[in-house]
Amino acid sequence: MTFEELGLSPVLLRTVAEEGYTEPTPVQQRAIPIVLSGRDILAAAQTGTGKTAAFTLPILDRLAPYANTSFSPARHPVRCLVLTPTRELAVQVSESVKTYGRHVPLRAAVVYGGVPLDPQIKELRGGIEILVATPGRLLDLVGQKAANLAQAEILVLDEADRMLDMGFMPDIRRILDLLLARKQTLLFSATFSDDIKRLAGSILNNPETVEVSRHGTAAETVNQLVYPVDRERKEELLAHLIIEGDWHQVLVFTRTKLAASRLASWLDRHGVASTAIHSDRAQSDRTKALEAFKAGEIRCLVATDVAARGLDIDALPHVVNFELPWNPEDYVHRVGRTGRAGASGNAISLVTIDEADLLRSVQRLLQRAIDWEVEPGFEPRQRDAQPLRAPRGAGSSSSGGRSRSSSASSSRRRTSVA
Ligand code: AMP
Repeated sequence: MTFEELGLSPVLLRTVAEEGYTEPTPVQQRAIPIVLSGRDILAAAQTGTGKTAAFTLPILDRLAPYANTSFSPARHPVRCLVLTPTRELAVQVSESVKTYGRHVPLRAAVVYGGVPLDPQIKELRGGIEILVATPGRLLDLVGQKAANLAQAEILVLDEADRMLDMGFMPDIRRILDLLLARKQTLLFSATFSDDIKRLAGSILNNPETVEVSRHGTAAETVNQLVYPVDRERKEELLAHLIIEGDWHQVLVFTRTKLAASRLASWLDRHGVASTAIHSDRAQSDRTKALEAFKAGEIRCLVATDVAARGLDIDALPHVVNFELPWNPEDYVHRVGRTGRAGASGNAISLVTIDEADLLRSVQRLLQRAIDWEVEPGFEPRQRDAQPLRAPRGAGSSSSGGRSRSSSASSSRRRTSVA
């Protein structure tokens, strides 16, 4: 299928071609015609599926009749509101809106907390058609009379599942009260949990459902591998894998902010340039860290799940679960950071015997076993213990494609945890 067949205007087709997109992704194929038709959508699409363009492109076309170059703020009321759970995702979405909308004279802005209000108030008072916001800051701006949502006719809830997890439901309800009853609502979520279905039932009007990847499915293009290891050797194993495998741009996940900071400084002291990104760091520091990572100045970014939401790094080659997440859905989100939009990626998990239950939950959600491999020199002491039991045979179910597999020695054994 081509972008031309989706009904987008010539100006957006030109932009898409300039971006080098030759073919719409599955979520774009399904969602773009529905959004253009004005209907509500409930879409399950993970990060990396091209979901941002799936809603941004048709929204730009729907709002194009309002485009004008008047200097009067009254001619530029908020027509579309995009709510996101995190600052990083808000920035990423607004950059996409600016990129895709560069030939359309509609104004876009992004507002989020943790930075001074005044510049945002000033920008909003000038008139903005597409506003990307995190919920708390948006309500502050409404309280200051800087944002007026009375004319917004399109609402997008991006990563709605994460907004619910982060406790934004009351804020979302307050924002809904400020919007027109008759509007188009697009709800995007990585998963369709019961809470999401309930929210959809209460705010969507006869929606079309778009589901491009099965519930809990990690991207097909991601090679997933587990390394069993003892707790006290995890840092060493990680540094070894990064250095020996000559990995660059490694995104590493920990469960807590403290673990992220500690690991980043350990790696940094042991020859792997690293930094931690988490919600305790000032926004400017997080942005700087992300830029340095994207530019290849630092090799390893250590992040918590919350901080990593919304990081847009094209074709990130390596994701490491230094610790498995408590919530198996987070494993899917983490792994979704690699293998984006068709590029292949590697997702590695360093798993101790204590994490065996977490690994089982992940595998239950994925409905398949993940291959595992014992790194020579890092054999866990308890490797014969259940349930991370000894491998059942060399190379049994490995599909290959991992960056280090070419150097696999005969002592490295690989199999699946059933
Ligand atoms: P998203 O899922 O919105 O975070 O998008 C993931 C990445 O895919 C972004 O870096 C986009 O630039 C890229 N992308 C979006 N649509 C396409 C497409 N049709 N072809 C190739 N890349 C795309």
